[in-house]
Amino acid sequence: MRLSRFFLPVLKETPADAQIVSHRLMLRAGMIRQEAAGIYSWLPLGFRVLKKIEQIVREEQDRAGAIELLMPTLQPADLWRESGRYEDYGKEMLRIVDRHERDLLYGPTNEEMITAIFRSYCRSYKDLPKILYHIQWKFRDEIRPRFGVMRGREFLMKDSYSFDLDEASARRAYNRMFVAYLNTFDRLGLKAVPMRADTGPIGGDLSHEFIILAETGESEVFCDSALVDMGAPGLDVDFDGDLQPLVDARTSLYAATEEMHEAERFAAEVPEERRLSARGIEVGHIFYFGTKYSAPLGANVTHPDGKDRPVHMGSYGVGVSRLLGAIIEAHHDEAGCIWPESVAPFGVGIINLKPGDADTDAACQSAYDALVKAGKDPLLDDTHERPGGKFATMDLIGVPWQLITGPRGLKEGKVEIKRRATGERFEVSLESALSQLT
Ligand code: ATP
Ligand code: MG
Ligand code: MG
Ligand code: MG
Repeated sequence: MRLSRFFLPVLKETPADAQIVSHRLMLRAGMIRQEAAGIYSWLPLGFRVLKKIEQIVREEQDRAGAIELLMPTLQPADLWRESGRYEDYGKEMLRIVDRHERDLLYGPTNEEMITAIFRSYCRSYKDLPKILYHIQWKFRDEIRPRFGVMRGREFLMKDSYSFDLDEASARRAYNRMFVAYLNTFDRLGLKAVPMRADTGPIGGDLSHEFIILAETGESEVFCDSALVDMGAPGLDVDFDGDLQPLVDARTSLYAATEEMHEAERFAAEVPEERRLSARGIEVGHIFYFGTKYSAPLGANVTHPDGKDRPVHMGSYGVGVSRLLGAIIEAHHDEAGCIWPESVAPFGVGIINLKPGDADTDAACQSAYDALVKAGKDPLLDDTHERPGGKFATMDLIGVPWQLITGPRGLKEGKVEIKRRATGERFEVSLESALSQLT
C-alpha cells in the first residue's frame, strides 16, 4: 500500500472525550469513527487489525476442532420466548418490530439459535460431540458504552457452542476451548489469565473468564502471579489427547474476579509475594451450562441405551473487537501503538524522506517490491509531508519495523531500520536491510 493512495485520517490533537489510552490512540490513528454511542465505523487501518485478530481467533478454533458457520444478526423473538430469556434479558436487548409486526431482536448472543439449529438436524449420540462457532456482530444496549470499542454497543464476538452426551464429555469440550483460548491470546501478544467466574444458578466450577491485566480494566481481580508468567500450551498440543493436566496446572492456582474472590482463601493459598490484586479486561469467557437451553428448547439426543435426553452444552465467547483495545492497552508508548507482528496492520513501513529524488524513489520502490513479494505487507510513505511528520505517523500507527530511506544515506549506500517496539535503529545497506526484513 502507498500512503498517498491509502485512507488514513490521523488526528493531530488528542481527542478530549476519550478517557483511556487505547481509545485515544484508535481515534488519533484513524482506526475507528464513532457513529452513535458505542457504535463505530472501522476505518481501513482499524479494519486491517480487526481482520487479523479475527483470523487468529478462527485458526485456533479450527485447530481445536470447532466448526465455523454463520448465524444472522437478527433473531426472531419467539426463539427467546421458548428459552424464557426474552423477558429476562431486559433493556440490554435491542428489540425490533418488522413491517408485519413480528418481534425481532438484534442478537446479544446465540445460545437459543444454535440450539434450534442443533435440534433440527442432530438426534443421536452418533452426531456428538460437536463444537460450532461463528464470528458475528452482536448488539447489547449497554447502559454506559465507553472506552471506545472496549465497551461498545455493537461489537464483534466469536462465540462457540459445544454439544455433548453428558457432563464428562462436555468437560472435554470445555478443556479444548480453555486451551485454545490460551494459545489464541498468546498469539495476539497478550498474557491472559483464566480466572474462576460465577456460574450462576447452575453451580459447578466450569466457568472461567480470560483476563488481561491492565490499569484501565473494568474488573477487579485477584490471582497468583505465577499464573501471569505461565506460558501458553503451544500450537503442537494434541487436542484429541488428555487436556486435563494443562487445565489443572492453571486452575489449581488461585485466580478470581471480584464476584468470586474469597479473601481468606487467597491469603491461605497464595504466598504473600505472589498475591496480585489488580485490574483486568475480560477478553473471553467460557461456560458449561448443561441442559439450561436444550431442555426448554427440546434439543434431545438418543443415547446408546435408546433413551432420549437433553444434550449438554457450553458456550465460549471472545470479544474480538474489544481485543483491539486490550492489545493497545498492553502495547503502546507515548508516541503511539506498538502492534505485535501477528496483528500489525502492515508489516513494514517504508519512509521515503525525499519523494521526487530519483535514487530515493528507486530504492523505496525496490524495497517495496521485495517486501510485497515476501508477503510482508509494506506501507510506503510516498507523501510530501515533512520527515518529522512521517516519523510521527509511522510511530503512531505502530508498524513493527520502519525502513527509512533518504538521499543522504543512499549516497553512502545506507538505509536505516527502526524497530518500533524498542526504538533501536541500525544503519545498513539496502540489501542487508531487505534480507533482515524479508
Ligand atoms: P462484560 O462483563 O465486560 O460486560 P460480559 O460478561 O457481559 O462482558 P459475555 O457475555 O461473557 O460478556 O461475552 C463474551 C465476551 O464478549 C466478553 O468476554 C467480552 O470480551 C466481549 N464483550 C461483552 N460485552 C462487550 C461489549 N459491550 N463491547 C465489546 N466487547 C464485549
Ligand atoms: Mg456485560
Ligand atoms: Mg463479564
Ligand atoms: Mg462474561
